[in-house]
Amino acid sequence: MTSWLQSLTPQLELRQQQNLYRQRLQTQSAQGTVVDIDDQQLLNFSSNDYLGLANHPDVVNAFKNAVDSYGVGAGASHLVVGHHRLHHQLETALAKFTGRDRAVLFSSGYMANLGVIQALLGKRDFIVQDKLNHASLIDAGLDCGAKMLRYKHNDITHLQQLLEKNLPEHGAGEISQRRLLAVDGVFSMDGDIAPLPQLLELCEQYQLALMVDDAHGFGVLGEHGGGCAEHFNLSQTQLPIVMGTLGKAFGVSGAFVAGSHALIETLVQFSRSYIYTTALPPACAAAAYQSLQLLQQPERRIQLRTSIAQFRDGIATLGIPLGESSTAIQPLIVGSSEQALALSNALFEAGILVTAIRPPTVPVGTARLRVALSAAHSSDHIDQLLNALDHALKKQPVILR
Ligand SMILES: *Cc1c(COP(=O)(O)O)cnc(C)c1O
Repeated sequence: MTSWLQSLTPQLELRQQQNLYRQRLQTQSAQGTVVDIDDQQLLNFSSNDYLGLANHPDVVNAFKNAVDSYGVGAGASHLVVGHHRLHHQLETALAKFTGRDRAVLFSSGYMANLGVIQALLGKRDFIVQDKLNHASLIDAGLDCGAKMLRYKHNDITHLQQLLEKNLPEHGAGEISQRRLLAVDGVFSMDGDIAPLPQLLELCEQYQLALMVDDAHGFGVLGEHGGGCAEHFNLSQTQLPIVMGTLGKAFGVSGAFVAGSHALIETLVQFSRSYIYTTALPPACAAAAYQSLQLLQQPERRIQLRTSIAQFRDGIATLGIPLGESSTAIQPLIVGSSEQALALSNALFEAGILVTAIRPPTVPVGTARLRVALSAAHSSDHIDQLLNALDHALKKQPVILR
């Protein structure tokens, strides 16, 4: 064995000592509010299936019917012979849903972010990002070769200072440099919403195009589930690049980017993570198309909001501090990874699954329990979570922030 391969084991041991070791839980049931793990039934507060669509009978049937007619695999990439009518049907529906000219599917959100940024930016260009953006945006920014600026989370003053220092204001028409501000619409580990109207003002002033990764906004925000763009009522001109995933509130798998004809055609022509990979199974597109119909109905969103309010009220009554989040993501910030793990384990013992999120997924010193709520949770489920939390915290006090 070469010597560097021998260093893998000590590296793993170090991660274990730091309480940063990850262990994959094995589910033995469908995704839902109750999951089977290790022959134990657990109430699930860790899933991104915010509307309970991952195992919805209509979505399941749409998938099955498509498999019966068209088989399982797409067989090729989109540009060869893998682009199916069902992909096209979903793209058209997503364009209409988002109010954009067109939409294009990617195999995952990670690949969509890489694909957009790599196709649009090169080393003469600028990308500006919130420090808490999803890893896929950060990785895309690093890979594309553009100069990257990162501002403190949701800190408009800091952003303005960075822009003023690094980006001279130009008159219209003078810029050959491409400038992009890419931001999570809803932050995946905090649940707070990016202040898009204020960001937009700075984008206009400094001639940046705005891109929103709305993985956690679609289905959750906006009257029709249209996410941040609908929540803030932002047009295609204001918000020209919208990215969404199909694996969260849609309950399926895959992702999409919506925008102008020119943007989408540029992605089809130049985006390497679009071109050089097998197309999403057509059945996923059929299932996501069915999800899109359900996701636009208000009932599940209303139910989700009720659950969020019940949880937040309950936590306040217990005197437990909680950040500013109006979305399905409600983190309890613990601080140390060890204590976050201990609290998560105590809840597990009580039959409640809330996974601990630790560095490097979140900044050092902000390990947390990321409570994810779903429209499928009942009021009784939320009460059980609140009781278990109260009990665990009394038995083993942890200072939450
Ligand atoms: C989950 C997520 C992604 C990645 O999407 P996948 O389809 O799971 O690859 C990208 N951005 C954000 C903000 C996410 O939460």
